[in-house]
Amino acid sequence: MVVQHVLGLWRPEGDVAIPDSFWYVTWILLGLIVGSFLNAAIHRLPREGMTISHPKRSVCPKCDATLTWKENVPLFSWLLQRGRCRSCKAPIAWRYPLVEVITAALFFASAYVTGPPPSLLLAVRCVVLAGIVVATFVDFDFLEIPDEISIGGMFLAPLCAFLVPALHQETWIAQVLTGDEALATGGVDRVSSLIACFAGMAVGGGVLIGISWLGRLIYKRDAMGFGDVKLLAAAGGFIGPGGALLALLVASFAASLAGLGNVLRFLCLLRKRTRERGNGKPFRRSLAAARIAGRYLPFGPYLGIGIGVVLLAWKNVVERFFAY
Ligand SMILES: [Zn+2]
Repeated sequence: MVVQHVLGLWRPEGDVAIPDSFWYVTWILLGLIVGSFLNAAIHRLPREGMTISHPKRSVCPKCDATLTWKENVPLFSWLLQRGRCRSCKAPIAWRYPLVEVITAALFFASAYVTGPPPSLLLAVRCVVLAGIVVATFVDFDFLEIPDEISIGGMFLAPLCAFLVPALHQETWIAQVLTGDEALATGGVDRVSSLIACFAGMAVGGGVLIGISWLGRLIYKRDAMGFGDVKLLAAAGGFIGPGGALLALLVASFAASLAGLGNVLRFLCLLRKRTRERGNGKPFRRSLAAARIAGRYLPFGPYLGIGIGVVLLAWKNVVERFFAY
């Protein structure tokens, strides 16, 4: 394992103790840098004729000026330029620094949960979270989840499960297959982890296919996009079958809250307009209109929140939901 060897060289061993704070700062800075690449992915993946590597350098979407490295420093360029392009002074969306800060926060959280020194488990968690950030923001903008993320994740999951069995340390199937004795000495083994991964993909994809089938039966319309199915299938490979179901539970809860907020927002807007026009439309009709307008929410972002929460705090979530 070349990677493990290299990581081993960085690990504090013997008398060279690297303080945790050094690693935390490293992961936060790395998160900012990765976040700026994710911005490019979010912008490019759903657009025709653009790929991660083409065009080579970032340009201002308003004036097409190629950005120099000074204008491309994550977060700090945006802050120094006060959120404006240096060439044309067009405002740069606050979404860009937001994605960078979110990614940095997620990397920090991963290090906090996994342990700050570099490890393969920490790397896998960061990669999964980075994928979720891209899926979430593309889904917000285009109501679709890029296949590069969902199908890519389905291929990556078995590979990671096999190489880093610690990924499924908390997955019940993997624990049972490994057996108590081996579990106590060496943790979950590779094959058990791989089986847990496939089970997670089957359950994650299967449960959403089931829900969408039920939805079509009852409401006669598509309640669930296939992108969501692929995303939860891929996620199941990383968080196991129980994790996938838990992620869906958290996602549904978050989406209901957001949906309710959305309906209320539309309702206030409609009532305000009704008052301004003074046509006294009944409240009941405003509510019906608001419910329709508030219904169209992408589910991917909430699924992303659920997956992220389970990936980082799976034990705590289980205790919160089921302990009482
Ligand atoms: Zn510009």
